[in-house]
Amino acid sequence: MKITMAHGSGGESTSELIADIFEKSFNDPVLSKMEDSAVLPGAGRIAVTTDSFVVTPLFFPGGDIGRLCVCGTVNDLLMSGADPEYLTCGFILEEGADTEDLRKIAVSMSRTAREAGVRIVAGDTKVVEGSGGVYINTAGVGFVPDGINVGASNCREGDAVLLSGSLGDHHAAILSKRMGIENTIVSDCAPLVGMVDAMKRSGVRIHAMRDVTRGGLATILNEFASAAVCRIGLDESKIPVSPQVRGFCGILGLDPLDMGNEGKMVAVVAPEDAERAVGCMRKSRYGENAAVIGRVEAEGESAVLLKTPIGGTRVVGPLYGEGLPRIC
Ligand code: MG
Repeated sequence: MKITMAHGSGGESTSELIADIFEKSFNDPVLSKMEDSAVLPGAGRIAVTTDSFVVTPLFFPGGDIGRLCVCGTVNDLLMSGADPEYLTCGFILEEGADTEDLRKIAVSMSRTAREAGVRIVAGDTKVVEGSGGVYINTAGVGFVPDGINVGASNCREGDAVLLSGSLGDHHAAILSKRMGIENTIVSDCAPLVGMVDAMKRSGVRIHAMRDVTRGGLATILNEFASAAVCRIGLDESKIPVSPQVRGFCGILGLDPLDMGNEGKMVAVVAPEDAERAVGCMRKSRYGENAAVIGRVEAEGESAVLLKTPIGGTRVVGPLYGEGLPRIC
């Protein structure tokens, strides 16, 4: 069945669509009450985030827009030190969207939410004229435990800079699919709950965290350097990039440092905790290639420098201009 304007009327067709696809897939008692708001328990410092997902294609090697929207929102909550709890989702459907695709997307969202330990508790659907597109906005709520204080401005001289795995997989997977290039690259799209929990539980002093999404590692580290007024030194030989992605980048002239990922994070931690933090990442799902990739070398100036394998040093700037198609 195709989505028609009637599915957005707010009347019977809308109710049928919601009951048949979203309510069934998400299966949450609070959502199923269909009240105007979800009323839920919570206390302490609340983290709130929102993000919109407009990726094409909707289904790609390693994931789909449904998995992507849950991971993106869960990871943003995690990066502020919060334990993610609740998600909402707003669907903007273009006329002509396929209901079987929608069902697959909803099931994928539900599965990913379960993996990440969050509940989808509220939602909305609108239909607009168009040609079958699907766009999703998700908001997330989490709670920040006492004693956790994570922020870019907390980076200090001597801190270790950790990366949870190889760069560029999501970006390269989407580009490959859009350009019709055949290869074995799959998106890294994943919720990072396991590795962040492990670091928090083992008492790693985490000063700053970011998921390495749009803008890539280069942009994030420049944001850290600006916020904390510090110089970050990276060792290029320590930055993991898979041979397939490296080859792909070579052909297209892309830099893995600028590429978007959906299941990678960077953490800046106290120097004494660096090895323990890498251990936590490596033992958790999606973190087997984690590495210490650099250090905060000094305070008082803002810069990101990369030591190349042949002994040179280059300044790493943030991504400038339009680097990407719709990868998220
Ligand atoms: Mg983020």
